[in-house]
Amino acid sequence: MDFVLKNELGQLPYLYLPGFGEGKVRAVFTTRRGGVSRGCYSSLNLGYHTGDDADAVTANRRLVTDALNIGEDRLITLNQVHSDRVVVLEREEDLQLKKGSRGDGLITHLSNVAISILCADCQAIYLYDPSNRVIAVAHAGWRGAAAKIAASCLQEMSNVYGSRPADCYAALSPAAGPCCYEVGEDVYQAVKETFPETFRELLEEKGNGKWFFNISQSNCLILQDAGVLRENISISSFCTICRQDLFFSYRGSRGETGRMAAILIQ
Ligand SMILES: [Zn+2]
Repeated sequence: MDFVLKNELGQLPYLYLPGFGEGKVRAVFTTRRGGVSRGCYSSLNLGYHTGDDADAVTANRRLVTDALNIGEDRLITLNQVHSDRVVVLEREEDLQLKKGSRGDGLITHLSNVAISILCADCQAIYLYDPSNRVIAVAHAGWRGAAAKIAASCLQEMSNVYGSRPADCYAALSPAAGPCCYEVGEDVYQAVKETFPETFRELLEEKGNGKWFFNISQSNCLILQDAGVLRENISISSFCTICRQDLFFSYRGSRGETGRMAAILIQ
């Protein structure tokens, strides 16, 4: 199962994952198309921290919440810091109280809440536990993968809601692909430390002290180690660096660019 572009005349285009969690939740990934931002943020930039005009970002977020038929104040984002810190939205009041918290994972059992992760090359992880009706999203670039944010999320879902990983569905968003994601010695060492047995499969040697890193495979291994069944993990084949017509790419634009949102709603 891979993400599919929904592109209808007069509607905001976005990617969605058909049948994710047996269709009980909506897993969405916005593209760079259909918004009002200009220049390197053109056009559906959803990140306020990028240097883009804040009014444009607000307008873009409204386009997304309208398209998903959700209240503007129910789109929840974090202040992402490449950590393994997870935020749980346990009560309606938490939507206001915990919006913008420092962290890289969001968990909730609440309905009609668009929990979201902002990214441009980094991978977002979607999790759904149908037994306890709990959803989660996590931000996992190479630092998040090295910190095993996916495992932290599953652990917190278990602590707070009694989730069992073997019951959970997972999906990995479009991200920088192994075709393009060139890394140096620092990433090589971090990956080697986190995956002492499998790091050779995750890093393809390019020469000159460079490797191509497979972020999807890394996150998939972390999910499986935590107990998620391989057949319950969907992996997107979209590469955000190859497809800059469709996606913002941090690397592809040398850092000055917008952000997409990975969104999960139940
Ligand atoms: Zn690529």
